[in-house]
Amino acid sequence: MTGCLPLVKEIKPQGMMYFSFFDTVSNIYSYAGDSQEEFKKNCDEVAAILEKYHQLFDIYNEYSGINNLCTVNKNAGGEPLKVDEKLIDFLLYTKEMYSLTKGESNVMLGAVLKLWHNEREIASVDPTLAKLPDPKALEEANTHCSIDLLEINKENNTVRISDPLASIDVGAMGKGYATEQAARYLEDKGITSYVLNIGGNIRIIGTKVDGDGWVTGIKNPLDPETYAFYTKISDISCVTSGDYERFYRVENVKYHHIIDKDTLMPANYFSSITILTKDSGLADTLSTALFCMSYEEGRALVESLGNVEVLWIFQNGDQQKTEGMIPEVR
Ligand code: ADP
Ligand code: MG
Repeated sequence: MTGCLPLVKEIKPQGMMYFSFFDTVSNIYSYAGDSQEEFKKNCDEVAAILEKYHQLFDIYNEYSGINNLCTVNKNAGGEPLKVDEKLIDFLLYTKEMYSLTKGESNVMLGAVLKLWHNEREIASVDPTLAKLPDPKALEEANTHCSIDLLEINKENNTVRISDPLASIDVGAMGKGYATEQAARYLEDKGITSYVLNIGGNIRIIGTKVDGDGWVTGIKNPLDPETYAFYTKISDISCVTSGDYERFYRVENVKYHHIIDKDTLMPANYFSSITILTKDSGLADTLSTALFCMSYEEGRALVESLGNVEVLWIFQNGDQQKTEGMIPEVR
């Protein structure tokens, strides 16, 4: 599971439920002391929200009765396509995130990401066939990645990709955005003391019943069975992007799945980035974007935003952190 941040379970939750969305394992924990019936109802509602976004954001499969991102990609170069308002709102959000991250998080990078994804798939079936994408093909693909190729019409709820060779990939922020929508639904119902772990994307609603936070372990990228850092969190999201979960090897060199738009190669600054901030969509976006920026650039960006804490883990295991990323001794 990429970006996985298992919670160190200090107290037993009253309820726990497993799901499978966004091709990863998810679970919901309740510490609220609610009844099994209430818990199950809340979980079913969260599951329905996540299922909806999962279908809308899927770029590999279409579903009957809806136009999702797979349909939008297939329709590239064609006429504007009517889609669910939820998808319009999300795509507008991705454009906002593009500006906020100075282009480091670009959902229109699909043409480039596809080339890497294909090689990873081939290598996973037969490692002897592992190779890098052709640099010329990467360069060519990169000419189809401008964010302006994504045309959104909010009034008509239509979307269009204006270049037939361009495509959307929301891997960097879709899961976080969907998690945030589910969390807000629960918050609006007045729910507290819930923990959503949506494929490693942690979103905490409220505090423990005694008002304290949960101790969370941040994986050690050099040895993902162990933790590099513990911190106590409540009412916040905690999201990690790392080089240690989704990668393949070519001649024994590791090539992971987060691609730097400037080199079109896997970003080479860090082993992991962990973001703490309330909004899970922002946390997911920033974890990927900061992974593609130097420490100095990333630090300047988060300081300009405020209310964002970061743990940078470098490839040699060294760490840097913002002041509010408070370590817990274990
Ligand atoms: P994960 O999905 O593994 O939790 P991330 O949130 O960091 O990790 O997202 C990585 C995914 O984002 C990749 O699999 C790919 O689909 C997409 N991606 C990779 N590099 C970029 C980038 N520079 N801009 C936007 N999306 C990217
Ligand atoms: Mg991300």
